[in-house]
Amino acid sequence: QSITDYISNTIRTIPDFPKKGIQFKDITTLLQDKRALELTSYMLAQPFRNRSVDFVVGLESRGFLFGTNLAQDLNAGFVPVRKPGKLPSKTLSEMYALEYGEDHVEIHQDAIFKGAKVIIHDDLIATGGTASAASKLIKRLGGEIVGYSFIIELSFLNGRDQLVQNVPIESIVIE
Ligand code: IMP
Repeated sequence: QSITDYISNTIRTIPDFPKKGIQFKDITTLLQDKRALELTSYMLAQPFRNRSVDFVVGLESRGFLFGTNLAQDLNAGFVPVRKPGKLPSKTLSEMYALEYGEDHVEIHQDAIFKGAKVIIHDDLIATGGTASAASKLIKRLGGEIVGYSFIIELSFLNGRDQLVQNVPIESIVIE
């Protein structure tokens, strides 16, 4: 059994959560398996080892779970991108479209320096809307996106097409 298969088998699918028709990928069962926890950390860092990275930007909230660990493995700092009203200092905000309506993500204005090399990390990429909005925040601050890191990619939603092109997009489990 491959490492990827081992990790994949610890992720469970919850039908009709948070609403009808959605097959929700639940990583709490991955987190509670000590071997999957360690292997996931290892697999997330692997493609970016020996790369120069200044910050891992983790997306609220499941992007925080492995994001700080990934930052430490890559000798980088960690920066949270959060839902509106959560960050206490001055923020930049970016809107993105949902199936019905819109939402925002925010970053602290002083979170990254101009020219910083940034990896965006989240547990899962679906439509790519969240990671795309986070990319815009980083670019507005003068950062350079050098990669994307996900545990799960729902490839049938083509989310990667929304991301900055010509940088590596690394997903452990591709559905
Ligand atoms: P996107 O913006 O459509 O790519 O959706 C990605 C965001 O929604 C991420 O922050 C995910 O954590 C969350 N998300 C969407 N679908 C799922 C799922 O099936 N399981 C866990 N998180 C999900």
